[in-house]
Amino acid sequence: MEWSDRNKFNSFNSYKGLTYYKNYKEIMKWMDGESYLPPPVECNLDPYAACNLNCYFCVVQRYIKHHREEIGMSELPADYSHRLIDFLSDWGVRGLCISGGGEPTLHRELPNLINHASEKMDVSLVTNITVMNTELIKSMMYCKWIALSVDAGDRYMYRLIKGKDMFKTVVENIGMLTRERERAKSHVSLCFKFLVLPENQHFIYEACKLAKELGVQDFHARPVDFEREDIEGNKKLDIDIKIVKEQFEKCHEIEDGNFHVYTVTHKFDPEFHVKHDFTRCLATPLVLPILTDGNAYLCVDRKMESKFKLGSCYPDPESILEWWGSDAHRDLIKSVNINECSRCTWSEYNRQISDTVIEDRMDLAFP
Ligand code: SF4
Repeated sequence: MEWSDRNKFNSFNSYKGLTYYKNYKEIMKWMDGESYLPPPVECNLDPYAACNLNCYFCVVQRYIKHHREEIGMSELPADYSHRLIDFLSDWGVRGLCISGGGEPTLHRELPNLINHASEKMDVSLVTNITVMNTELIKSMMYCKWIALSVDAGDRYMYRLIKGKDMFKTVVENIGMLTRERERAKSHVSLCFKFLVLPENQHFIYEACKLAKELGVQDFHARPVDFEREDIEGNKKLDIDIKIVKEQFEKCHEIEDGNFHVYTVTHKFDPEFHVKHDFTRCLATPLVLPILTDGNAYLCVDRKMESKFKLGSCYPDPESILEWWGSDAHRDLIKSVNINECSRCTWSEYNRQISDTVIEDRMDLAFP
């Protein structure tokens, strides 16, 4: 069970992709040679290319630790980010996910960025929640959801896997966040995130109990992807699946109307290793990743890889229109060898496009 039946229409359910059916159809027409590609539904924006933690499993470590010199700007300029958001909103982008590429809350102008963007579109934030101040916490209340990357339920484990002794700060900051949510009567969903690793695999339930005590709305656990070639020491990790699943069940038992549990494994095989149950890369035009230097990439999972660069939107955001939906964009998608990709964020969406648009396996003329 990944989520309770009463909570099946949730943000982590990849069948959500079917609600983008109109986009799927337009993407396929464009892939077949028509000239119009709809704007992405979401922009994934990295405002800051550095981090104050040292997680050994970080998926962007190659980018922020080893290839900093390849990044034109390590911090998105504030005035530019506002112009970019204005353009994206006018273009039709509905969601802005502020993530990393680094820890976004280290960007001093992040509160202004969130405030500005939230007037125009839905905003979400992915953070390690080690940084907190009055302006930031106020702006966070305007987000639709915030993913809190904690991955541990105690100080020892936190320091072991995250490389810094900041568990106490994180717990205090989450407490401040939940209290402010209550005070401000905000609807932001706070999600305690837990990546399952060999070190922490026995402590999932402890972390889930802590999340509930802290007053967040969601607890989300999933296997880590350690099979990416760009992670130091990458390999297939040994996880005791039975132990993990027992804890997942216990986590679901403490779910209630105010606290939801998601144990999301459908993008992995039964042993929690990478699987590809799709044959073509097709869904990337749903989301546009833009990095701190204004360069945009084809896919959230392949950002900062030069061969996946789509183009730049710095200093003029409108320059996106010069390469979005171009022949080069289409050719780049067609050139993707899915076997060179590790865990694919859009795996189920890729499959849905093939099965529902190309093959109409759901006989969509018959509701
Ligand atoms: S991970 Fe690879 S297959 Fe999946 S969407 Fe990205 S580029 Fe395509």
